[in-house]
Amino acid sequence: MVNSFSPNARRVVVLGTGGTIAGRAASSADNIGYKAGEVDVADLLGGIDAPPGVTLVAEQVAQVDSKDMDFDIWRTLAQRCAHWLGQPDVAGVVITHGTDTLEETAFFLHSVLDAMKPVVLTCAMRPATALAPDGPQNVRDAISVAATEGARGVTAVCAGTVHSGVDVQKVHTYRLDAFASGDAGPIGYVEEGEVRLVRAWPSAATRRVAPVFEPGDVQWPRVEIVMSHAGASGAVVDALVQSGTGGSDPLRGLVLATTGNGTVHYLLEAAALKAQDGGIAVRRATRCANGRILPKEGDALRDAGALTPVKARIALMLELLGK
Ligand code: ASP
Repeated sequence: MVNSFSPNARRVVVLGTGGTIAGRAASSADNIGYKAGEVDVADLLGGIDAPPGVTLVAEQVAQVDSKDMDFDIWRTLAQRCAHWLGQPDVAGVVITHGTDTLEETAFFLHSVLDAMKPVVLTCAMRPATALAPDGPQNVRDAISVAATEGARGVTAVCAGTVHSGVDVQKVHTYRLDAFASGDAGPIGYVEEGEVRLVRAWPSAATRRVAPVFEPGDVQWPRVEIVMSHAGASGAVVDALVQSGTGGSDPLRGLVLATTGNGTVHYLLEAAALKAQDGGIAVRRATRCANGRILPKEGDALRDAGALTPVKARIALMLELLGK
């Protein structure tokens, strides 16, 4: 139930961004042939009872298929989160989001928000029109997390599991329980509206990246990802470096999606070292689903630790943006 503001209630704010959770298909039997980002966030809350003493507020921030997520939406989302978290009676924020880039948005928000209160992303693998949609339960669980006393930081809730915004990764193309937290494991579970924690809530970001919150245009530094693989070459890196020279959007950074413990095909490595010598920031992030890169003495290209390539890209963009 979406209620209007009552000064005595604790509010949980639900920000809509689109995704399958807001998707519509022509038939209730169709779980894949739908259009994402169709149903308003206020309608997604229909039929969901808020926890006792909690008032829900719905706000539509965007309406996209999250494969098309962009920097401007991220920026608006960060600003709306900061606004709502700053209201004394707001217990937390829930964000409905597509599954495809949920982990990127979660990591971005984790990196820029001083989230001393909970920011909970949630999603669905089936559209709102499905015979048995998973969205309503996920939203209800996310609201429970956002209203939980002592909860904080950026998390993602899907299929009854609470993941940290740092560790969460989409790991399945179809099943409802599509997310995992790798070696770290989940933070907890939501059971009948109660959160059962198995490890600590994520900490809030320590660094506020000013341009994200200031008015005016932001020139997002261009950072690209190039994968190392059998038979790789330096051609993609050379072309990327070349494409930026003299243009309005020069290449500023490069993330190598490496094999194993940060290893890179020798031809790709040579091109990356040349790019680095030319002033481009280069990071190595493993393409392995689990584990982190263990650095070795004499590594010529910096590693991104446990960050996946997409998260390493966000970290590097924010680092360059903050300079
Ligand atoms: N393509 C959709 C999206 O990310 C997939 C989903 O939400 O499950 O918005």
